[in-house]
Amino acid sequence: MRHEDEHWMRQAHDHAVAEKGSDPANTPIAALLVLDGKEVARGVNRTEECCDATAHAEIVTLRSGGQAHGDMRIEGATLYSTLQPCGMCTFASIWAGVSRIVYAAGRDDVHEMYFEDRHLSTLDYVADAYKDDLELVGGVLAQECAQLYFRPGDEVPEEDQANE
Ligand SMILES: [Zn+2]
Repeated sequence: MRHEDEHWMRQAHDHAVAEKGSDPANTPIAALLVLDGKEVARGVNRTEECCDATAHAEIVTLRSGGQAHGDMRIEGATLYSTLQPCGMCTFASIWAGVSRIVYAAGRDDVHEMYFEDRHLSTLDYVADAYKDDLELVGGVLAQECAQLYFRPGDEVPEEDQANE
């Protein structure tokens, strides 16, 4: 963890709340892309609004980050996410050449509905199998961000079990 990580994670947390509120039913997940100490892009999940299963906060942010950067690859950038990225977003980060993924709440901090796979931690898998130049850091402001989500053991109504 770097000293600036908490600063950027707080920005991501506040962006999630500003855009989506703090009710877990609205899945307030936010991501932030930072390069050389400057914010390149930020976003929240838009799966429901856009009827798009790929519109996770990280993907939304990588898309606008690529536009802002003028290149699909944003090498050296750090992607911050208020919740541990799923496999799709982890691989999207690899395609984008991101150097670091920093997340707040991890899969043990939240309800299992946020993660499609039960046994495999994609982040560990990617770190071990393919990428030795992608740094993964979890737990930055984990408790504050976990407050935004359903917790392990929560009774979550079926209609709120959107998986993002
Ligand atoms: Zn995702």
